[in-house]
Amino acid sequence: MAEALPPLQPVLDEITEIARASDDRGKVADYIPELADVDLNQFGIAIARPGLPTVMAGDAQVPFSIQSVSKVFMLALALGKLGDRLWSRVGREPSGHSFDSMLLLELEKGYPRNPFINAGAIVTTDAVLQGSSPRETLGALLRFIRAAAGDEAIHINDRVARSEIATGHRNFALAHYLLSHGNLKNPPELSLGTYFHQCAVEMTCAQLANAGLFLVGAPGAPRLVSRARIRRINALMMTCGHYDGSGDYAFRVGLPGKSGVGGGILSIVPGVAAIAVWSPGLNHYGNSKLGTEAMERLTTRIGWSVFGPA
Ligand code: GLU
Repeated sequence: MAEALPPLQPVLDEITEIARASDDRGKVADYIPELADVDLNQFGIAIARPGLPTVMAGDAQVPFSIQSVSKVFMLALALGKLGDRLWSRVGREPSGHSFDSMLLLELEKGYPRNPFINAGAIVTTDAVLQGSSPRETLGALLRFIRAAAGDEAIHINDRVARSEIATGHRNFALAHYLLSHGNLKNPPELSLGTYFHQCAVEMTCAQLANAGLFLVGAPGAPRLVSRARIRRINALMMTCGHYDGSGDYAFRVGLPGKSGVGGGILSIVPGVAAIAVWSPGLNHYGNSKLGTEAMERLTTRIGWSVFGPA
């Protein structure tokens, strides 16, 4: 897949131009002021490849709240700690429901469909937290992300975390429901405190693309998890990474990807590259509108879909 690539910089510049000219940019998440106040007109994109300089365009150096993209990193930690035992607590099927839905959790008796919807991510975080403190767990998460990105400056925005705690009623409901089924092992306020802080990690597109290199699985990429685990995490990103828009993302982009309500998307071209795109306006699935469009344009142009060229 890597040979005969067109030079990436002009492609990213053109994609950024198109995104900047768009007058339909989606809607920013407005459940907390820190996200509601983000300027809708921003757009950034970055591509990291093992052993090569990161290519970027637009607002690729502006930090944003990675939100649910953090679920990928916490999943890697949980699989490192529990291995396949994690699957006794959370499934690996797409949900077809919104990210914070209660409905399936009730039908399926506290066994969340996958680690990327909120209920599943709360269980995943709870599993990593068991036997340690929120501070240690978040320290481990930051160490992992910083090692993956090769960047010690990556941090958690405390204000975002506090706003999430103040407004996260549905997440509290999900956590208590999980607890009622014995699928939460720590007090809900500790699991959720950890979960809200993980969502409040702040990164730029350039940092996020570099952090995604551990999932590329090619020589020169950081070896933080085994090849077998990379394959599994990418599979989950493909099938579940965009909530009930996961099928649409696979159809349009054809790459494993994880979105966050801050407007970021991390996508992996297995064996080749990690791509981060950010634009804060969301589509009706809650995924970045211009980010998805840019990824579709990029993979179509370069032929990077895992399903073959366009
Ligand atoms: N902090 C958000 C929540 O749990 C994350 C959702 C998302 O990024 O999709 O509600």
